[in-house]
Amino acid sequence: MDDTQVWNSGMARLNSFLVSLPAETAEALTLLLARYGRAKKDLAAVVAAVDAAAVCCECRGQCCLNGKYRMNVCDALACLAAQTAPTVDFTRKPVCPYGTAAGCTMEPGLRPADCILFLCDGIDRKLSPHDRLLCAELEQILREFIREASRLTGEQVGTPLLLWAEKQNTSSKFMVQRQA
Ligand code: SF4
Ligand code: SF4
Repeated sequence: MDDTQVWNSGMARLNSFLVSLPAETAEALTLLLARYGRAKKDLAAVVAAVDAAAVCCECRGQCCLNGKYRMNVCDALACLAAQTAPTVDFTRKPVCPYGTAAGCTMEPGLRPADCILFLCDGIDRKLSPHDRLLCAELEQILREFIREASRLTGEQVGTPLLLWAEKQNTSSKFMVQRQA
């Protein structure tokens, strides 16, 4: 399977998984994912407020190269819950499959947590001590949401989606072989 097929199979499995959750769990997860998105937006806003766009423009998006493992299962669940799965293109390496040469295709609340949490030296230098404190608090909140979503779903949702999907495909093949 190539990356596109693994991505499609992972998203399809997650979609079925969401639909199959008991109503109470689904409701708790939906609320959690909405709060996860708000925390990402808040963190992105702290960075945007120090004119990160100007620094990123000079750097030409170096941290957005080779990003295929950045989207974790929790991020993908959040996209599915918001019914806005990103359009992916794994053929334009080294450009991130979830972005274009012009930048990320996802709004901050739906971007991978890894991308939102990454603060390069250029951005870090522009943050005030108060901003750094805020970023550290929001990071803890995001990580706790991921742990809580893992508890709710019984899956390690901090795992990159592509690795999770590959593992699911391998175990299904294994089950089919055992049943044959
Ligand atoms: S966050 Fe840092 S590394 Fe990434 S594009 Fe902006 S300046 Fe470059
Ligand atoms: S998902 Fe978006 S922010 Fe993250 S590496 Fe890809 S293009 Fe950049």
